[in-house]
Amino acid sequence: MVHPIVKLGDPVLERVAGPVTVFDEELRKLVDDMFESMYAAQGVGLAAPQIGASKQLAVIDTTFKEDPSARLVLVNPKIIHTEGKQTSSEGCLSLPEFREKVTRANKVTVRAQDLDGKFFERSGEGLLARAFLHEIDHLNGKLFISHVSALKRDLIKRKIRKLAKAGQW
Ligand SMILES: [Zn+2]
Repeated sequence: MVHPIVKLGDPVLERVAGPVTVFDEELRKLVDDMFESMYAAQGVGLAAPQIGASKQLAVIDTTFKEDPSARLVLVNPKIIHTEGKQTSSEGCLSLPEFREKVTRANKVTVRAQDLDGKFFERSGEGLLARAFLHEIDHLNGKLFISHVSALKRDLIKRKIRKLAKAGQW
């Protein structure tokens, strides 16, 4: 089922998500819904809070359906290693239409659980590293605009307030 994507302004996006402790059918269903919702919104990553579920859970597919083996489910993920730097334009399904240059680590290793609760480690470079960091930020109540200057952030928030007033957000 496709869920609407929650936008900036909803408190669920600024809350630290709770850990996943039960690995059952319900979790699988939520993950299926997350992939469906992410693809429907043309995204390559989605964190559970973005569909209103405050859980430590994210899905990523940096190939956008091209390579089924690129589909990643991260349950209770933690960043265990970062290396290097990359700067590129970044956006977020919860901030549609806004993009900013964000500098992040270029190589990232995460440790997470799979849908059976089994721990695994996965490393990524470039876009995948960026997706790991962006989605795990969401699980900690952070959005990519926390990585841009205060000036740019205020400008974006002001534009969003205007859009909200006009009923367009
Ligand atoms: Zn995002």
